[in-house]
Amino acid sequence: MEFDYIIIGGGIVGVSTAWQLKQKYPDKRILLLEKEDRFAKHQTGHNSGVIHAGVYYAPGSLKAQFCRQGLAATINFCQKHEIPYEQCGKLLVATSPLEVERMQALYQRCLKNGIEAELLTSDELKEREPHINGLGAIFVRQTGIVDYRRLTTQMADCFMALGGVSFLNAKVTGLTECKSHIEVCYQQQGEQKQIRGRYLISCSGLMADRMTRMLGIKTDFQIIPFRGEYYRLAAQHNHIVNHLIYPIPDPELPFLGVHLTRMIDGSVTVGPNAVQGWKREGYGKINLSLRDTWDMLCFRGFWRVLKNNFSTGVTETKNSWWKPGYLKQVQKYCPSLKLEDLRPYPAGVRAQAVLRDGSLVHDFLFVNTKRSLHVCNAPSPAATSAIPIGDYICRQVEKHGELLF
Ligand SMILES: Cc1cc2nc3c(=O)[nH]c(=O)nc-3n(C[C@H](O)[C@H](O)[C@H](O)COP(=O)(O)OP(=O)(O)OC[C@H]3O[C@@H](n4cnc5c(N)ncnc54)[C@H](O)[C@@H]3O)c2cc1C
Repeated sequence: MEFDYIIIGGGIVGVSTAWQLKQKYPDKRILLLEKEDRFAKHQTGHNSGVIHAGVYYAPGSLKAQFCRQGLAATINFCQKHEIPYEQCGKLLVATSPLEVERMQALYQRCLKNGIEAELLTSDELKEREPHINGLGAIFVRQTGIVDYRRLTTQMADCFMALGGVSFLNAKVTGLTECKSHIEVCYQQQGEQKQIRGRYLISCSGLMADRMTRMLGIKTDFQIIPFRGEYYRLAAQHNHIVNHLIYPIPDPELPFLGVHLTRMIDGSVTVGPNAVQGWKREGYGKINLSLRDTWDMLCFRGFWRVLKNNFSTGVTETKNSWWKPGYLKQVQKYCPSLKLEDLRPYPAGVRAQAVLRDGSLVHDFLFVNTKRSLHVCNAPSPAATSAIPIGDYICRQVEKHGELLF
């Protein structure tokens, strides 16, 4: 079997890419390979469901650009395909003088990123959110919510309706780049199979580094899994907030802090935190993979992350096991919540690319060879940004692919 393009990964990034590539090149034979029995089983199906407006990202970065475009593109897609979404808006709440200072800086960043944002006083915040306490807040009207699993399934349907082919339960186990094509070995129902593609695109999320290594690409990063643990509020609190409520993040830390998120099904989640994962696709609290752990322990960057974030790591781990500690982070801005209000909810695992020197890769990262392109770092807001990321990949492929076809 031979295809023009083979895409690995049926998360939102891979599916969006496959769909847009097929739209652009209806005559090309395009194959999407996913190792699970359905699409969106990993990061895409385990996230907060927020359509971000792009508050946090460095002006000029791919994240800032794609997130802004992604918000509009996601809403457009939802409208076209009648997928429920809501632009409920988001409040970033400052609860201390230091956070008020950080809030001002974040507000300036919003303006630089071209985001419509409004500063609220403590009283204005109270008017909008009677259950939330704060010294002030940034109000971002455009932020929305959606079910990314549903969005991905719809995009996959669009891809297949155009004649795209997808294989589920097909785990890629080997890649070889030849002069005229790429050989892809995969395992399906216990059988080892092989196909050829003239061009390969890897959107394999938590396994991104393993795909580059299979092809022998020398890179300086490794994927480190960070678990994001949630609770769901008891149903009587489904109307406790009118917007999404976020703390003001510490600019030194890569994650956004535990927030109250209204979900599109009407429930409200609390979270996610950020704790070290010991299994890339392990969602249980004590999941451990010897291979994943060994890979991390052998990677110098992992030890440096540990050293650089030691005290935050200890606090996050403590709060992960000690619910009152977790609750305290939310009570900072929502004091009426009690321990019994926090009900179990499935965790997610973030794929974060880390460099050998221990720095976290903040922006989206792509690497390519003559016949392949790899999405190496696509953490949040990659669900929001999936349509522009897919479009970017199509343009890159066009640039490189023209020489090949
Ligand atoms: C806790 C959490 C909260 C988040 N909240 C938000 C949010 O509110 N808004 C937002 O925009 N973003 C959010 N994100 C980020 C967002 O979910 C991810 O950035 C996005 O889903 C990444 O999509 P992906 O397709 O790259 O990866 P994934 O969804 O992980 O998909 C990768 C796919 O590749 C497949 N694969 C891997 N290896 C192989 C192989 N060998 N063979 C075949 N297939 C393979 C996997 O099975 C998987 O389906 C959050 C993430 C987490 C974890």
